[in-house]
Amino acid sequence: MMTSPRIHIAASILAIVVLAVGAVLVAGALSTASERILTVFFISLIGVAGIGIYTGNSGILSFGHLAFMGIGAYAASILTLPAALKGATLPKLPEWLASTQLDLVTATLVAVLLTAVVALIVGLAINRLEGSAAVIATLGLLIIVHGVIIGWRDVTRGAQSFFGVPRETGVWTAAIGCVLALVVARLFRDSVSGLRLRAGREDPISAGAVGIRIRRERLIAWVLSAAVMALAGALLAHFLGAFSAKKFYFADTFLLLAMLIVGGMSTVTGAVTGAVVITLVTELLRRLESGFSFAGLEVPPVLGTAQIGIGLIILFAMFRKANGLAGLKEWEERVFQVSAERPQTPERQEVQEQSTLHAENLTMRFGGLTAVDGVSLHIRPGEIVGLIGPNGSGKTTYLNMLSGVLAPTEGTIRRGDRELTGLSSPQVAELGIARTFQNIRLFSDLTVHQNVLVAALSTKGGREAYARAHAALDRLGLLEKAAEDAGTLSYGDQRRVEIARALACQPSILFLDEPAAGMNREETEDLMRRLRELASEMGIGILLVDHDLHLINKLCTRIAVLNEGHLIAEGTPEEIRKDPAVIEAYLGPGKDQ
Ligand code: ADP
Ligand code: MG
Repeated sequence: MMTSPRIHIAASILAIVVLAVGAVLVAGALSTASERILTVFFISLIGVAGIGIYTGNSGILSFGHLAFMGIGAYAASILTLPAALKGATLPKLPEWLASTQLDLVTATLVAVLLTAVVALIVGLAINRLEGSAAVIATLGLLIIVHGVIIGWRDVTRGAQSFFGVPRETGVWTAAIGCVLALVVARLFRDSVSGLRLRAGREDPISAGAVGIRIRRERLIAWVLSAAVMALAGALLAHFLGAFSAKKFYFADTFLLLAMLIVGGMSTVTGAVTGAVVITLVTELLRRLESGFSFAGLEVPPVLGTAQIGIGLIILFAMFRKANGLAGLKEWEERVFQVSAERPQTPERQEVQEQSTLHAENLTMRFGGLTAVDGVSLHIRPGEIVGLIGPNGSGKTTYLNMLSGVLAPTEGTIRRGDRELTGLSSPQVAELGIARTFQNIRLFSDLTVHQNVLVAALSTKGGREAYARAHAALDRLGLLEKAAEDAGTLSYGDQRRVEIARALACQPSILFLDEPAAGMNREETEDLMRRLRELASEMGIGILLVDHDLHLINKLCTRIAVLNEGHLIAEGTPEEIRKDPAVIEAYLGPGKDQ
């Protein structure tokens, strides 16, 4: 299922094919040398697109992908190497391998599958890591695979050159492989998996809160990207005819990452841009590197010019364009600014689950600090409960426990007879319990529509996701802003997008952490009307944390008051207003209201 307008996908694929065919025709008209440069360019671009599928969408830089390219190259080459040659150069090869001789396409397919299996196994381990630990692990992968290639002499010829591979990768073969890789990368970016991954890259916590299982999505991207790397490896091996393990090590890792980073890692447009820029610059610098004469002046050869040049380009790109030359959007997304297609039957959604949420004696301790101490609350369907208290009294911590962001130190949570204690936040979201965050946590580089859609796609099995997303945007009055990037909206609008995103999970219970913070009076009044509708028309039970007592008093039937982690009062707004303990704690001694 694609999550973006068809025109974007169509325009992108058309451009990829036209550019590739055009480049081949131009190079063919120029010279054999330019055909060779173009072939290498295509293969590099496959590699860049491959790394981009993982790194671009997940945001985790991978130094390990050249290992997959290496595995693909060796696997495919062993399968296509003429049997007679194998007998001479690799005498210790197992009999079944020694006698196998496949054509390039079959061998590449086998190599791609094999690499995908290896990636799956490695990925299960690497995926458990976060942040820089994950990055270092990918680096470890590169070094380990290199070590295995060097050590496994019977199959790889070790550090020696692996030669005699049929040179079957011509410029057209490389072009076809490149188009394939770019189309896969482009389709993945806008697939459900790609969208979830990009949401998780922007904010893993709120991604979890809308039902996204980020590790699973990362694993999918990891395996797919490894498969694309194997394609690049197989094609490169059959272009070079002879290669060794160092072809798939640091130098080329650096080169491909440079292309990805300079161009912009989150788009296919960026991959192509980066590959073009770096290839042109290296070709130019290579000529300078070997020395030249200019206007009678002899410039001596300077070794390493190309590497230094690439380094400088990266620095320049990072200073001037941190997201790469192409930025965060595909070219076609800039040209065709259409909001996603509307569903055929926009419908008002109904709440399915209608039972009370019971939180009993919840306690949260952070080391020595007891942030919440044995607090019980009940939220009935269609009811708006207020949760107030001074700063630091434990309100956000309470919501974090209820929504699975934190596991309570003590206490139980259940809805109806379903036990919820200890569930992860995607599991809680799946059960129809959604939330917003005090410090807005939107997927800022995704559009408003994508923010809401990804939540709908990741809960309730993604059923009627488009209709649910549309209904949620409509409820919050955001249809006009659907095509805008969430991060560019005003504060008040961003808060409403967060509520719409939570609503797209089709919740029966909603936790709102200071939804009116930063809103002006008018926006607050509008919000109040909409929240009242959610409760009365849809039967959603709402737990509302806010500092705005006007809002709390007008909306809530019951109010609970926290102070230093303790529940000091609970009752109707009337009762709470008169409660001496509340006046003392919340308003401070001597104040009255
Ligand atoms: P509120 O939302 O009512 O302002 P919080 O729930 O954010 O209060 O915080 C309650 C207390 O718990 C504060 O003292 C805060 O410093 C502490 N706290 C909150 N989260 C953490 C955490 N992850 N680690 C340690 N202390 C925390
Ligand atoms: Mg708070």
